[in-house]
Amino acid sequence: MSVERVTSFSAPVDVHTLVIGGGACGLTAALTAKRMGRDVLVVERDAVPSGSTALSSGLIPAAATRFQAAKGVADSADLLTSDILAKAKGQTDPVLAHAVAAMSADAIHDLADRHGVRLELVEGFLYPGHSVARMHGTPNRTGQELMAMLVAAAENEGLDVLTNAIATTLFVTPDQSICGVEVKRPDGALERIGCKALVLACSGFGGNQALVKTNIPAIADAIYFGHVGNQGDALRWGDALGAATADLSGYQGHGSVAHPHGVLITWALMMEGGVQVNTSGLRFANEHAGYSEQAEFVLSQPGGIAFNVYDERLHQLGMEFEDYRNAVNVGAVKLGKDVDELAHQFGLPAAALAQTLQEIDALARNSAVDAFGRTFDRNKRLTPPYRGVRVTGTLFHTQGGLVVDPRARVLNRKGEPFPNLFAGGGAARGLSGPEAWGYLSGNGLLTAVTLGRAAGLSVSALD
Ligand SMILES: Cc1cc2nc3c(=O)[nH]c(=O)nc-3n(C[C@H](O)[C@H](O)[C@H](O)COP(=O)(O)OP(=O)(O)OC[C@H]3O[C@@H](n4cnc5c(N)ncnc54)[C@H](O)[C@@H]3O)c2cc1C
Repeated sequence: MSVERVTSFSAPVDVHTLVIGGGACGLTAALTAKRMGRDVLVVERDAVPSGSTALSSGLIPAAATRFQAAKGVADSADLLTSDILAKAKGQTDPVLAHAVAAMSADAIHDLADRHGVRLELVEGFLYPGHSVARMHGTPNRTGQELMAMLVAAAENEGLDVLTNAIATTLFVTPDQSICGVEVKRPDGALERIGCKALVLACSGFGGNQALVKTNIPAIADAIYFGHVGNQGDALRWGDALGAATADLSGYQGHGSVAHPHGVLITWALMMEGGVQVNTSGLRFANEHAGYSEQAEFVLSQPGGIAFNVYDERLHQLGMEFEDYRNAVNVGAVKLGKDVDELAHQFGLPAAALAQTLQEIDALARNSAVDAFGRTFDRNKRLTPPYRGVRVTGTLFHTQGGLVVDPRARVLNRKGEPFPNLFAGGGAARGLSGPEAWGYLSGNGLLTAVTLGRAAGLSVSALD
């Protein structure tokens, strides 16, 4: 990945807006710019656009949407902002957080009403830190479905997407304008494309082991569950251009990936009464603090594993999620008619597990708070038969990146915008601050679609 400084540039193909990366951020930016009448090209390294977006649950938080209004959910940009800032303990940019929250409803409405993405409000449980129901997802709650709908929108709207094209070099003029990009094709051929505006939507650096080791050593040995093509290219170009970067140690982890099956087990199970125990049958953290920070807690247990313990009621809740159904199909979800049988399934000490379940039941009966700070709910007690899954902690997505303003303009180290360079999603600094605990569920796709849309609108204003 390199930046070449030039005084003139010519290419066989010129477009107004070039977007690098065809995930949620890139396609949202491109669809928006195209709608605004711009000539747009997306370059995507893979044969089929997928990215981390396709690996995700596809759940996008947004405040004050028509979907919430239809269900009587009162929400506002201010409330979403305060939830984001509370989760990040104030260690993120409050101006960007508020701007993103304020743009979130428009982003969701555009996806649903202009681009045919079949979104609905996810009800029945709240993710950690969300004050109200505001996750919007496709019917099967999968990112694959979300991506399929975005790709269909791109096809329907005649958007040009050049696949099998890895952007390698940015060309920049002395006034810091990007005038073109070089892409590498599978046969090694290099092709140049000229542009008037460039959107970096090529996500974070989770797939780049060296960058993860440098910036987030605590999670460097964990399984990376995101898209391997996310090699930190935006960050590397940004560094070479003199862009400001922030929060490179921040990341989205997850403490509940079935192991060794490698299937995401929804955190809804924990929020609605489930617990995690280690190989001694003992709990070790507040599961309600957040799934992101739980990754490191799970990894610090013996063997780097834990066991989700819940019941039939929660099993039925899980069955609403395609990932969970897949986990059932591959045999990751075990059933025990009582504690002994469940303990036996995983080789856990039955007496210790029984003691743990008695303790949480006593807490639940009294709606009490445990030593880790979790409040138990008398309406969410676990009853036999029990269910369980062996899980590990993983790295999902990096949260640090290029510093952008609410118009998705990339800023230099003096805080000034580059003339025609934009970024969003994983390529930009997120809203989660410098630590894993700062990640509010959905911050990933929230910044992908809102800043993607903002970038699309911003590029449209450029001649
Ligand atoms: C298992 C899992 C579950 C998740 N669930 C959720 C969730 O429910 N809600 C949520 O908000 N977030 C979730 N996330 C995070 C979310 O997936 C990301 O925040 C989001 O997808 C980022 O979108 P993006 O468009 O920035 O990046 P991506 O979707 O990763 O797209 C980046 C694209 O850029 C391409 N690319 C990279 N470099 C180049 C290059 N040099 N040239 C050309 N193309 C390039 C890649 O191939 C890729 O297609 C989850 C993540 C994981 C891993």
